[in-house]
Amino acid sequence: GPVIVWLRNDLRLADNPALAAAAATGRPVIPLYILDQTPSVRPMGAASLWWLDKSLTALAASLEAIGSRLILRRGPTREVLEDLIAHAQPAAVVWNRLYDAASIDRDGGLKAWLKDEGIACESFNAGLLNEPWTVKNGAGQPYKVFTPYWRAARDRLHHVQVEPAPNALPAPARWPPTEALESWRLHPTKPDWSTRFDLWTPGEGGAAERLDDFLSSPVQHYDRQRDLPGVEATSRLSPHLHFGEIGPRQVWVAARNAVEAGDAPAGPVETFLSEVGWREFNHSILFHNPDLPKANFRPEFDGFPWMRDDAAFEAWTRGETGYPIVDAGLRELWATGFMHNRVRMIAASFLVKHLLIDWRAGEAWFWDALVDADLANNVGNWQWVAGSGADAAPYFRIFNPIAQGQKFDPVGAYVRRWVPELASLPDALIHEPWKASAQLDPAARRIYGEPIVGHPAARERALAAYRGLKGEQ
Ligand code: FAD
Repeated sequence: GPVIVWLRNDLRLADNPALAAAAATGRPVIPLYILDQTPSVRPMGAASLWWLDKSLTALAASLEAIGSRLILRRGPTREVLEDLIAHAQPAAVVWNRLYDAASIDRDGGLKAWLKDEGIACESFNAGLLNEPWTVKNGAGQPYKVFTPYWRAARDRLHHVQVEPAPNALPAPARWPPTEALESWRLHPTKPDWSTRFDLWTPGEGGAAERLDDFLSSPVQHYDRQRDLPGVEATSRLSPHLHFGEIGPRQVWVAARNAVEAGDAPAGPVETFLSEVGWREFNHSILFHNPDLPKANFRPEFDGFPWMRDDAAFEAWTRGETGYPIVDAGLRELWATGFMHNRVRMIAASFLVKHLLIDWRAGEAWFWDALVDADLANNVGNWQWVAGSGADAAPYFRIFNPIAQGQKFDPVGAYVRRWVPELASLPDALIHEPWKASAQLDPAARRIYGEPIVGHPAARERALAAYRGLKGEQ
């Protein structure tokens, strides 16, 4: 019988160990993608589904180019696999591993069932440089602090290798039934909010191009410019990495090769790779703390007096808080499915500290709106910002959204792009538009005449809430 390759967040042909293992058997290979939006594993948000649509289109085309196909099925995973197995009578099912508790539970159950059915089953690592259980401290425990984690993790990376894409895949005599991708209606229609998502090229080719472009030039200035949202100084690989259109091993090898060839400077490349290290760290933290999507890493935050304020939350999601850097971020997110990392930190901090809204509400909004929405990275970073996470920023360090704007968007390039109603303000006032109230037209004055909360008062309120939490009042 054939081998089914069940593809998930590994939508690529190169450096794909499950696919390579299937090809190596010499048996017919059935590449399969299952869209399972039942709540057992957190369902994808709207922006992710937009991405998935294009990524599957690209993957199907690459598979067809090597004599194969992509079988598409929608429904509860177990039911889909039962049906497919009855139809295809496979000798084996293989996949690449995921690291969140819900996926691990599901996959473990499937593995046991398949073995009972007499079907071989094997899983591989496509998604991480180091799987979470491989990096431990001297006491055999997982690291909880990034710097020693990355030092130990990095030390293990001497012989990173990537396998090329197979150049042919044997097809089965009879393909199992598939579904038309269009019938899944993943692209939004009424309304189509994705009109400005055209900066993205989902798929393995688009991912490789992003990495090449980044290593060919922007990486040189990465150290100095990665915090400037007005400059395109980062790789924008995150959605490609999330969907596995490129793997971290490929990123690692390409970056190291660029340094060795003298095409890229070692220092900035090292900084860039340490960001990829944060991705690894967050996956490790989530693996070792499976409740993290719901529960604080630091349980002392369980009693935090979050406020419920629907109007403020909505103003935040719409980018109408009155703080230009925060609003620009939320509007960039809505328009493109992406937000610059520095602005993610500022916007998230504003929600949890200035508005005292539970990080879980912000995490859920990002989950729906980000094309790179990733359980480990989103939850890990939200908890990091909130102060409740592993190796988190201390709670009492409260970002001042005015000063952050002035520091990281000094001439307002980013704010002017995303908040056009402020474009004509002088640089000196662009992060404090209420000081130029008279220059604003009425629509702009409604939002920027006065911010939703004043910074000093909000700061005091947040610090008081934190002191109360620690019983110091
Ligand atoms: P680059 O600077 O080019 O970095 C290269 C790669 O390293 C990224 O593609 C990403 O895979 C990884 N990386 C960079 N920074 C981080 C980080 N802080 N944590 C983990 N990995 C990192 N990233 C996601 O991939 N998915 C999310 O859902 C997500 N949610 C976030 C929520 C908040 C509140 C914050 C503050 C950050 C979040 N991040 C998330 C991390 C980070 O903002 C993005 O990974 C980054 O902005 C992607 O841009 P880039 O690819 O140009 O990054």
